[in-house]
Amino acid sequence: MRYIEPHGHMVSRTTDDYQSIAMAGCEVLCEPAFWAGYDRASVEGFYDYYRQLTEYEPARAAKFGIPHYCWLCINPKEAQDAGFAREVMQIIPDFLDRPNVLGIGEIGLNKNTKNELAIFEEHLAIAKEYDLPILIHTPHLEDKRKGTLLILDALKNANVDPSRVVIDHVEEHTAGFVLDAGFWAGMTLYPESKCTAARAIDILETFGMETIWMNSACDWGISDPLAVVKCALEMKKRDYTRDLIDKVIYQNPKTFLEKCPNFKLP
Ligand SMILES: [Zn+2]
Repeated sequence: MRYIEPHGHMVSRTTDDYQSIAMAGCEVLCEPAFWAGYDRASVEGFYDYYRQLTEYEPARAAKFGIPHYCWLCINPKEAQDAGFAREVMQIIPDFLDRPNVLGIGEIGLNKNTKNELAIFEEHLAIAKEYDLPILIHTPHLEDKRKGTLLILDALKNANVDPSRVVIDHVEEHTAGFVLDAGFWAGMTLYPESKCTAARAIDILETFGMETIWMNSACDWGISDPLAVVKCALEMKKRDYTRDLIDKVIYQNPKTFLEKCPNFKLP
């Protein structure tokens, strides 16, 4: 089996995890900039993080034969202090010409606040200025529906091309909004919260398999770097053909990622 992990926070992971995903058939891994599990105290903290995402992590992944790409931003959880967020955003352009950078992400909303929305819109402006694709995080639980609708509104106002935007962490009650508006959708497979493999396949069966991908997120919390592969095995149990499984876990992310100027398959 071959697959692409389009959303994995490998800075939180061990070399054993790299070994496992390489053995499971991971051909490319993409890492969005995210919360570190704690709030960073300074712009320098982000500077170091962007270096980690563009220098050290690709080198670590290469030891396992996996090309590593990343997305850059200040994540919504740390964007509540808008003044600080703007200082961080000023250094992002310094990294945009690094060879493994795909675009701006994962931006979005966490608690759907005014400040988060302002910083989200300012990130959209950077993406437009540099003509880059966008990866979007949607809030969890009770904030998801409202947050997704706010995000879709902001995207419409900013007049971005929906085919170059992927909106991640969709669930049953938000996938339709995202796909009907012409955006790509991502489903995050978590062992405890968010989507299980069975739920993800139900969503695929309900909403179609054209512009959707699955990812494991595999961050610093309880998560599973092999979640995409395990979901593929679940699809096999439901008698999906080899081609259809390959489409969902390899071809679909490939189709989207090829819209990113720096992306190329090995
Ligand atoms: Zn993430």
